[in-house]
Amino acid sequence: MAEQKATNITWHEGNVTREERAKGLGQKGGTLWMTGLSASGKSTIAVALEQVLLQRGKHAYRLDGDNIRMGLNKNLGFTAEDRAENIRRIGEVAKLFADAGMIAVTSFISPYRKDRDAVRALHDAAKIPFIEVHIDIPVEEAEKRDPKGLYKKARAAVAAGKGMGFTGVDDPYEAPEKAELAIRTDKVSIADAVLQLIDLLEKHGLLKA
Ligand code: ADP
Repeated sequence: MAEQKATNITWHEGNVTREERAKGLGQKGGTLWMTGLSASGKSTIAVALEQVLLQRGKHAYRLDGDNIRMGLNKNLGFTAEDRAENIRRIGEVAKLFADAGMIAVTSFISPYRKDRDAVRALHDAAKIPFIEVHIDIPVEEAEKRDPKGLYKKARAAVAAGKGMGFTGVDDPYEAPEKAELAIRTDKVSIADAVLQLIDLLEKHGLLKA
């Protein structure tokens, strides 16, 4: 975990409360954290969910794995250390969006339990809702989809004796133990997954002020 480098800094509290912000927006901020294997459907479901929320007049913003790796996290790779830093930064950014009153929808493989738990702890400490959803699929099914050809690449790298450190092939995926919801996307359609997520957001009270 990153150390605090700067000294002589003090948190500066604002005058606008979270409740006032929620009233203005007609919703409460929170983070909907999707975790799962590559090709499980995280990005696809996040895009569909954002659209449905917008139609309902709710404000969501997607933080997507590859997109963030092209900008904020372009200096990070896929070692365990870099993956941890990737998730730490995303966790902080999601928390900022949620604090601003948005529903931050994240779609990152986030394979390691302790990294996800650290993001949860960060939200808990700030009393910001953190809702973890396992976008679940057996690896063989994800591999059949392989929309980016990455499983094929990883299998070839392993066969060549090099490896690629690819989650589900030669890097572990640690499934959540206490996720608020798990969706089996080899059994549930994209539309039904979105409905389940809307229900979940409602249940957690995020869709009203
Ligand atoms: P991830 O973001 O988890 O890597 P993607 O959303 O990029 O996954 O890719 C998932 C692929 O699986 C897409 O091509 C999508 O159209 C397809 N797919 C088929 N059925 C589903 C489903 N029920 N839920 C989500 N994606 C699905």
